[in-house]
Amino acid sequence: MLHAPVTHANPPRELVLVGAGHAHIHILEGFAVDPPPNTRVTLVVDTATAVYSGMVPGFVEGRYRARDLHIDVRSLAHRVGVRVVETRAVGIDAARRRILLEGGDSIGYDLTSFNIGSTVAHLDLPGVREHGLPTRPIGRFVQQFDELIERARAHGNGTPFRVIVVGAGAGGVELAFTIQYRLAAETGRRIDVRLLDGAPRVMRHYPPSLIRRITRLAAARGIEILCERKVTAAEAGAVVLTDGTRLACDALVWVTGAVGHSVFTESGLATDDRGFLRVRSTLQAQRHDDIFACGDCATLIDYPLTPKAGVYAVRQGPLITRNLRAALAGQPLQRYRPQHDFLTLLNVGDGMAIGAKWGRSFQGAWVMTLKDRIDRRFMRRFQLASATEHGNTP
Ligand SMILES: Cc1cc2nc3c(=O)[nH]c(=O)nc-3n(C[C@H](O)[C@H](O)[C@H](O)COP(=O)(O)OP(=O)(O)OC[C@H]3O[C@@H](n4cnc5c(N)ncnc54)[C@H](O)[C@@H]3O)c2cc1C
Repeated sequence: MLHAPVTHANPPRELVLVGAGHAHIHILEGFAVDPPPNTRVTLVVDTATAVYSGMVPGFVEGRYRARDLHIDVRSLAHRVGVRVVETRAVGIDAARRRILLEGGDSIGYDLTSFNIGSTVAHLDLPGVREHGLPTRPIGRFVQQFDELIERARAHGNGTPFRVIVVGAGAGGVELAFTIQYRLAAETGRRIDVRLLDGAPRVMRHYPPSLIRRITRLAAARGIEILCERKVTAAEAGAVVLTDGTRLACDALVWVTGAVGHSVFTESGLATDDRGFLRVRSTLQAQRHDDIFACGDCATLIDYPLTPKAGVYAVRQGPLITRNLRAALAGQPLQRYRPQHDFLTLLNVGDGMAIGAKWGRSFQGAWVMTLKDRIDRRFMRRFQLASATEHGNTP
């Protein structure tokens, strides 16, 4: 186990990392090689097993087991000598420099960094929590997916099993395709999937050629895409639209896009209109040099339209590691500039994926092979790092 040297001459600085998102996992990896001197690092995380969302559609498709998606954050942290506090952060007392925890405790910090991701929008619409399966927290979605398979198996009246997926962003599109594929494979019966969105078209921030491919494949697989349909409530066996129409379903999957956790708004920090912490390009909060944030939970003041996607959280990992180190040492910080474009790879089930980059799109089994290789390489890095503590291999 590696420990940062703590001397009595200088009391250790307290660095509190909140959340085990992609960027913080990178910090743990970086600190394993080169721990910051005279610093006590604490990780506050609501669950010590992180789930890699990029492989969740592959899990739904039946390609991966749940454990293939898991990163053992506790082992990774212990290996670096980082203390883990497994509980939810519920607020920040910025004046007293304390992270407020569920249950009433709090932890003091000299520096803190948040990488807590996002939650799903509109969960508070009537009936949605009760009748829908939301994709956040993603670990719970993975745990509950087997129940959906069981329900489809038990659906015995000879009619197709009907799934409604609400939210036609990248995650919603992948889940519409992979759920249909998996449930059909598990049950041998017809699975009717409807993909609903309030916007005029699916994946509206993506290249038109990608959208055409998705639309064509959906038609070929019998997935009905319904745009400009806003859901106002969910009931047992149906969703209700703004015009009062009821669409019947046997399962409802809720993927309505990212909004912030309440931690920042309830702490009086400057956020954008979705509750994400506003950060400068150094990844420091707008008015607080000692609070950093990265990944989905942060919105860059200079680049507010940067998508909420894991690729950005991953790219911010090295920079937040360097900047926390520099801030602890009183040195100048570096600025983050998001990339303009990124490689989109969507798992559409049946061993196929559709991809896009620089406005061009492509599809086929080879695209899924590429996605699988990238995702497995990413996971191997962190699963190996956490397994080393136990002296085993994954
Ligand atoms: C089905 C699906 C597929 C996706 N596929 C892709 C893809 O292929 N590529 C891509 O780029 N993006 C993808 N995304 C988006 C991607 O999931 C997010 O952009 C990404 O996970 C954000 O990463 P993050 O590091 O900000 O946070 P996360 O990975 O969400 O991690 C947040 C961490 O914080 C913890 N946490 C949360 N709240 C608290 C709290 N209050 N206190 C303590 N800990 C807390 C969580 O347990 C977790 O450890 C997908 C999303 C979905 C739903």
